[in-house]
This record gives sequence, structure tokens and C-alpha cells, in this order.
Amino acid sequence: MSAKSAVLYRDLHKDPYTIAGASGLYLRLSDGRPIMDGSGGAAVSCIGHGDERVRQVIASQVTQLDYCHSLFFSCDPSENLSRTLIDSTSGNMARVFIVNSGSEAMDAALKLARQYYMELSPPQPQRTRFIARHGSYHGNTLGALGISGHKSRRSIYEPLLSPNVSHVSVCNAYRGPEEQETTEAYVERLARELDREIQRVNPATVCAFVAEPVVGAALGCVPSVPGYFKAMKAICDKYGVLLIFDEVMCGMGRTGTMHAWQQEDVIPDIQTIGKGLGGGYVPIAGLIAGHRVIETLDTGTGQYIHGQTYQAHPMVCAAALEVQRIIEEQDLVNRARDMGRVLETKLKAAFAAHPQVGNIRGRGLFWALEFVKDRETKESFDPALAVAMTIHNEGILQTPGIMLYPGTGSADGRKGDHIIIAPPYTITAEEVEMVVVAAQKAVDSAIKRLLQSRDK
Ligand code: PMP
Repeated sequence: MSAKSAVLYRDLHKDPYTIAGASGLYLRLSDGRPIMDGSGGAAVSCIGHGDERVRQVIASQVTQLDYCHSLFFSCDPSENLSRTLIDSTSGNMARVFIVNSGSEAMDAALKLARQYYMELSPPQPQRTRFIARHGSYHGNTLGALGISGHKSRRSIYEPLLSPNVSHVSVCNAYRGPEEQETTEAYVERLARELDREIQRVNPATVCAFVAEPVVGAALGCVPSVPGYFKAMKAICDKYGVLLIFDEVMCGMGRTGTMHAWQQEDVIPDIQTIGKGLGGGYVPIAGLIAGHRVIETLDTGTGQYIHGQTYQAHPMVCAAALEVQRIIEEQDLVNRARDMGRVLETKLKAAFAAHPQVGNIRGRGLFWALEFVKDRETKESFDPALAVAMTIHNEGILQTPGIMLYPGTGSADGRKGDHIIIAPPYTITAEEVEMVVVAAQKAVDSAIKRLLQSRDK
């Protein structure tokens, strides 16, 4: 089909599967075969597929108001969605800006950080640098990719990317600490590294430190160790540097609190959100700006110099608001936390002794398995084997199939393979069991096949 397809695909599947429909946890292929959406796409689906309430809201919003330009007009859906989002931060954040994708949200966040320094009195125009982390993915637009520390996604575009970005180590309990190093010493070392990097590039030039509270696509559901973000925030504060949290993948309830930072005892200056905001029903993402940034803007120009035709689209905002109402009414964030515990227990029971599973990690309903050739040395597989993609393929081929989100290639300046399991928050304990059994089947048959072909 790819040869005839009119769509420009990244050739992940030589012959892309056609999905004809979806309901609840299941996608349905055009031949009728069901696929369990074990990763909610890319941690997107949170209330499950095919919700009737969201369908009706979309239809009635289009009938009532299809479009108005958000630079000139406000409308109830964007106002109400923004209010709901601010309330979800317990008032810790001040204002919301809605765009169409996570990448755009990250670009908007970088620009807002820059504008903040330009509107300070006196302005600090020399603040043009961003510090992000290795093993991070913040999006595909030039700004968002420019700060991403994901080597394989950056490599051919490198000459187009900003030189005003540098990267420090990610916090990763599996691979980061040195032998015998305590958590406290590890955190101190990472904080020192950020401090040194700010010093190296000149503190007066640094705009913001950017991080995902739980690393998503680049490394596979890596939470930080306790105290890490508090220590990083203290370094940011020391130099007046803004803290930007990218919660596009790990936010909106995915990790068991509405915002992942609510488990870190740290409030960002700007956060981005995406995926679970619209739950897959509409393309929507956004940024939430904190009080420090908004107060500065309000005493300056009062304007955010950023406008896109389809930002805060009425239908998109109405659909996302309905998704958020369903999450609230059905207490789905707590459910994500509780089902996450079930998932954790079952994943550990299924994979803790697996010779090729080096690490099982995650938070809430956001879990990953990292695959290694050797558990002792933590050596990764040769990227040419495409272990994660092979597991993904095996998952789709079985009946019922399972969608597992693969991560392959050099992310951390090293090789690595993981799969992400991030089902909708509506999943039941029985369905969690089915997801884990299907994942186990996919992992076992893929690893068996790979080891056989390697030994030939
Ligand atoms: N940030 C993170 C953490 C992401 O995981 C992603 C998408 N995987 C993005 C930003 C970019 O979002 P989008 O694909 O919607 O542009």
C-alpha cells in the first residue's frame, strides 16, 4: 500500500496498516481484526476511543460556532477550557495559550521565555540560551527539535538548529548513578553539572532550563529520583533562569496527578501540555504560564507576540473541555494512578526475571520496558536489530493485536530500545492483564526471532 499511498509516511511499516474504526480500548483494522491500544497511540488516548459525549459536543460546537480568530475574539470554549486548566493547577499557574500540537506548544514556550526577559525592567536582551537534557524529545519543529537531546531525530537537521542550546545529563536511576552513589549524591552531582553549564555559557545569557518531568518518547517513561527537580529549580533560581516543564507526553493525568510536576514539589514558570488534553479527539496542545511570567508581561506590553490562525479553535477547545469534564466526573486521574499500580505489579510479575528486560519503570499509567543484551552489563542491542520496532510489529500481528509504542536508536548519546505501555485511564484491571499478556507474547516472540537470526 505504501507505494500507492498518497500520504508521505515515515516508513515505519513498509505496508502501513489501515485502521477503520475504534472503540474503548480497541482499534479495529480494515480486515476487522482488533488491536488493543496498549499505548494509547503515543500516550494520547485517555478516555478511550469513540466517546459519544465528545462526538456530540464536537457536532454541536461546529453547528453553533465553527471558527473565529482568537487574536480578535474570545469564545466560551477557549475561555472555559483555560479556566479549567488554571483551576487544575490550584491557581499556581496564571494563564493558558492553546495551539495545535506539542511541538508548537514548545516553540511557544521558548518564545514566551525570551519575551519575559525582554519585558523585564530593565530588559535582559542577552538572555538567548536554553539548556535542556540529553535523551529528551520536545517536538519536530525547528525550535522544539533544536532543544531536543535526541541525536537520531536531530542529526540530519543539525545545521538548521539553534546553536544557542546545550544539554546536560538526564536523571535516570537505571543508568545515571555511579557505583555506590547515593540518590542524594547523584542529585548533587546533576545539580552541579547544571550549575557548571550555566557558568560555562555565562549566566547572564541563559533564558531557561527545559525538562520533561517524566521522560517520554526519547528514553521511555523515565521518572526522576526524589529531590532532583527541587535541586534543579534551586540552581535555576540562583541564576534567575526560568524553568520550563514539557508535559506534552507525561501530563494531563497520565502519571496519576493532573500535572506531573504536582509530584515533584516544584512549580514551573511555564509548562506545556498536549496529547491527553484532547485525548486524541482533536489536535490540541498548549502552554500554561506561571504568575512570574504573566505579571511581567502584564506590566510590560501585556501582549504575547505569537499568533496562529487555528490557535484556540472553538471546536477543538470544546472537545478538549469535554474530555477534561469526563476525566473529572469519572475521577480518571485517580483511576490512572490506581490502574497504574495494577500495571506495575503485572509488568513486574511478567518481566522482572526476563533476561532481556533491563529495566521496568514508569509512573501512573505511563510505563516502559528497556531491553538489553545483557542485564549484568546493561549493554543495549545493536540498533540494526531494531528490537523495539520488532516487538511492536509482533504485537500488531497477533490476535488480538496490541499497540506498543517503540523507541529505538540513539537517544542518550547511546543505543537503546524500549517500548511504552500507556493505555487509556478508563482501562479495567482485566484489560490491564490482557495488555500485559499480549505484551509478553509480543516481547517473547520478537526476542526469540531476533536471537535466532543473530545466532545464524
Ligand atoms: N514534547 C514531548 C515530551 C513529546 O513527547 C512530544 C511528542 N511525542 C512533543 C513534545 C511534540 O508533540 P507533537 O508531536 O504533538 O508535536
